[in-house]
Amino acid sequence: MRKISIFGATGSIGQNTIDLIRRAPEAYDVVALTGGANIAQLAEDAIALRADVAVTAFADRLPDLRAALEGSGVEAAAGQAALVEAAGRPADWIMSAIVGAAGLAPGLEALKHGTTLALANKESLVCAGKLLLETAERHGARLLPVDSEHSAVFQGLAGEDMNAVERIVITASGGAFRDWPLEDLPKASLAQASSHPNWDMGQRITIDSASMFNKALEVIETREYFGVRPEQIEVLVHPESLVHALVGFNDGALMAHLGAADMRHAIGYALHWPARQALPVERLDLARIGQLNFRAPDPARYPALRQAYEVMERGGLMGAAFNAAKEQALDEFIAGRIRFTDMAAVTAAVLERIEAESDLIDAAMTLDNVTRVDHVARKQAAQAAEERIG
Ligand code: NAD
Ligand code: MG
Repeated sequence: MRKISIFGATGSIGQNTIDLIRRAPEAYDVVALTGGANIAQLAEDAIALRADVAVTAFADRLPDLRAALEGSGVEAAAGQAALVEAAGRPADWIMSAIVGAAGLAPGLEALKHGTTLALANKESLVCAGKLLLETAERHGARLLPVDSEHSAVFQGLAGEDMNAVERIVITASGGAFRDWPLEDLPKASLAQASSHPNWDMGQRITIDSASMFNKALEVIETREYFGVRPEQIEVLVHPESLVHALVGFNDGALMAHLGAADMRHAIGYALHWPARQALPVERLDLARIGQLNFRAPDPARYPALRQAYEVMERGGLMGAAFNAAKEQALDEFIAGRIRFTDMAAVTAAVLERIEAESDLIDAAMTLDNVTRVDHVARKQAAQAAEERIG
């Protein structure tokens, strides 16, 4: 039996992971499941999967979790320190599917224990890629991509020589507003931004798909994970979301990865790697689909994309600043304080302000320094949002 834990178990990726585990319960010994405010879901899954421990990120929810788990034999824990403690419990494989920078500390802890980390939490790579990779290297741990594009690239690179790679192309659906007139974008509502044309995902990443902040993070994730130069990374709008990524080689070959828009493929690939196992995902009937479309992303529609390249150019801890500013801007949009198009204006303002703060941005990449940059960038983003409201 493989010992596994799922961080962010109550979310979209977490629930898809549980779906796969439930199909072969005899193969897995579940150590920890973690969640946030959805205590009922967390407790139900922890009991059904006979987890050792269930952890809610919110310390004040411990009594509720205890009550929900009463008599089940599943241990209850709460708070950030409990999350990190759970990440250090012996396991063979951990799914990192917390949303946002909050996933970084538990992910690092898992790697320090040599655990294989299936990484859906792209934000941790954006904030502290070098730190994660070096920690994995030092402790003989492995990082496996779960983002669909990065899983696709990873599969496209299997058995290949990185020196023969010319470029990596990741696709983007274009999100909810890909065909809207540009002048309507400032009026986009929260409900409209929260509905994705192809993928069923958590609300935050769905909105980030409409703005392409998600793709901006993924460009940086590509650089961190595969070690290519920024100019080797391209984004291609592909409305059908069936080609997830392409790898271009020095002989002109372009290897594409196709599959249904179902995260259980990338999750299952990381779960069974290096083997392939049958997965309950739709098989594509290309004759029925008939055609696939591609176009270049419009920079005016997706200003976040260019910001990703600016972040990579500046280097240092700019990734952590960018991600934190983006998270704050998203909070402000979800709360109805700023407009959809204000989000990219807020992150642009933060990048401009923070880039000169060398004591912050050029500090060593440690968890403490990343956290420090994160706090400052969130504060600056809140201020920039305030200025746009005022
Ligand atoms: P989600 O919002 O559905 O779930 C997030 C999970 O994190 C929940 O379990 C929630 O309780 C937990 N959480 C929220 N705030 C937390 C905090 N402060 N501390 C600890 N736990 C917290 O999100 P999701 O769509 O499942 O995405 C999870 C991660 O996977 C994100 O990094 C996202 O970018 C990435 N991802 C998601 C998809 C997808 O299809 N949903 C695809 C690719 C990558
Ligand atoms: Mg993705």
